[in-house]
Order: sequence, then C-alpha cells, then structure tokens
Amino acid sequence: MNARPWHDFLLMPELNKHVELHMEEKKICSRCIMDSSIPDIVFDENGMCNYCKEYEKKAALLFSDSNQRREKRNELLARIKEEGKNKEYDCIIGLSGGVDSTYVAYLTKKFGLRPLAIHLDNGWNSELSVANIKQIVKLLDIDLYTHVMDWEEFKDLQLSFLKSSVTNIEIPTDHAISALLFKRAAEENIRHIISGNNFATEAIQPSIWGEYNKIYDLLRGYISNSAQKN
Ligand SMILES: [Zn+2]
Repeated sequence: MNARPWHDFLLMPELNKHVELHMEEKKICSRCIMDSSIPDIVFDENGMCNYCKEYEKKAALLFSDSNQRREKRNELLARIKEEGKNKEYDCIIGLSGGVDSTYVAYLTKKFGLRPLAIHLDNGWNSELSVANIKQIVKLLDIDLYTHVMDWEEFKDLQLSFLKSSVTNIEIPTDHAISALLFKRAAEENIRHIISGNNFATEAIQPSIWGEYNKIYDLLRGYISNSAQKN
C-alpha cells in the first residue's frame, strides 16, 4: 500500500471541519497564546488570562531596580562573603553552558564572589555546551566539578517518564541537579547555592504543566508502598 503524502491530509474535508470546530470552541488569551484547554484558566473583560495577570504582578515587583532591592542584594553579597571567609569557595553555582547559568557565573565574579561551578552531565551534552562550559570557566577563572550520571540508569528513568506521558519529562534532570548542588554544598561546607532562571520566559506557564505535585504524589505513593512491602 502506498502511503499518502502528508499534505494530502490537509485536503481532507472531514479533517478540516474537525480542526475548524475545535478552533471555534477554544478561547485564546488576548495577550499570550494560552487557550481555554488549560484547566483553571479564566479571562477578564479584556480577554486577558489569569496567568498573564499573575505574571505581570510578579514581574513588576521582580524587575524593578529600586534602591531597596540593590541594598538587599549588597547585604546578601556581604553575608555570603563573610560566611565564606577562610574557605576555598563562598558559594556554589550550577553551570549548564546555557545562557541563564552563564550569566549567573559572570555576575558572581562581577560581585567578587568565589564560586565553585557544578555541572551535571546526564548524557545529553552537546559539543557546543561542553565547549561553552570550558570557555566560561577559563575566562572567568572558576573551578569546575562535573558529575557524570550513569547513562543506562538515566536512560531508563527518562524512558519511564516518556512512557508514562508525564508532561514535564525534565523532572529527573531537574531533581538530579538540585540533589547534586546540595550534596556538594554539604561536602564542601559551602552555605550558599546561587542559581539563575529565566523568569520572563518560564514564570508564566501554568503550574499544572510542571506536574511537580503529581509526580511527588506518585513518588510518595511508591515509597510508602515499598515500605509496606518490606
Ligand atoms: Zn495570557
């Protein structure tokens, strides 16, 4: 049997009808592209969704460059330096080779901190990200510790998440990064972990897409079931 070319499907009247019908049912936010398929979404009289409104409220606070915020930052920097006295490092930073963690690395040096950079290699590192990391630590003169995950075990974990249709399949990596940062901080007796994320692009998404609560519930269930069996 010859397969039909994909663009043939666009000409199928019944499919087009279905798409149109589906589009009609959905209401789309006037500011972003989120629509009524998201649970708990509500729109105001101007058609703006609640996620946009919550974001704007938080952003107004976070992106302000007030004297008060600068003072707070300087106090924190002074505390980190004080608590790191006589130690090799005064803080830990995660370093992926991407833009957020690179900027954090730059800022720590700009503000005179002495960071230890930690990198988690989960087996998916691109050549570009490896080259970036090498370049960053060399130019900024930062010590780097890299942890390489067991590839077979990590592959197994990721496949399990994929097969379970969990929306956020980055959970194993995100958890491993946090665990590694805390583990190394404890081992090195470093009191501060500094991390960076992109509030402008990531903070708007509905929390349900993160699936964190659901996963924690599943894990809790799994742990308590295992405990009962043993
Ligand atoms: Zn919106």
